[in-house]
Amino acid sequence: MKISHIEHLGIAVKSIEEALPYYENVLGLKCYNIEVVEDQKVKTAFLKVGQTKIELLEATSPESTIAKFIETKGQGVHHIAYAIEDGVANALAECEEKGIRLIDKAPRKGAEGLSIAFLHPKSTEGVLTELCEA
Ligand code: ZN
Repeated sequence: MKISHIEHLGIAVKSIEEALPYYENVLGLKCYNIEVVEDQKVKTAFLKVGQTKIELLEATSPESTIAKFIETKGQGVHHIAYAIEDGVANALAECEEKGIRLIDKAPRKGAEGLSIAFLHPKSTEGVLTELCEA
C-alpha cells in the first residue's frame, strides 16, 4: 500500500463542547466541521493541523465504542488514520494477506465522506489503525 500522510488522529473525549476550548483557545486551531456518524454512534469535530486533522470523537450512545473506550482507558488518543493513495480495498487485501486482523473486511463510509476501514490493534502493535481515502 502507499501511504501519503497521516490523515487524522482520532481522540476520544467525553464532550466535544468541553474539549474544544482547549484546541481552539490554547492551541489556536479551528474547528471547521462537526458531524454525527450514525452507524458508529459518534459525534465528530474536525480541526486542521497542516494537512493532518484532529478528529475529536464523542459517544452519542452508551453502546458506542467510544463510550467503552473512555470507560476503560479514559479520554485520549483513540486511533491513527493513514491516507492511502492506492485504495483502501487494495490495502485491506494486502493486510489480510499479511495476516493482519481486520475489523472491517471491506471499506465503508466514514466522517467527511471518506472511504475507511479499521485494522485490529491486536495486529498493529497496540494502535487502532484506520486506513482512509478521499
Ligand atoms: Zn478516524
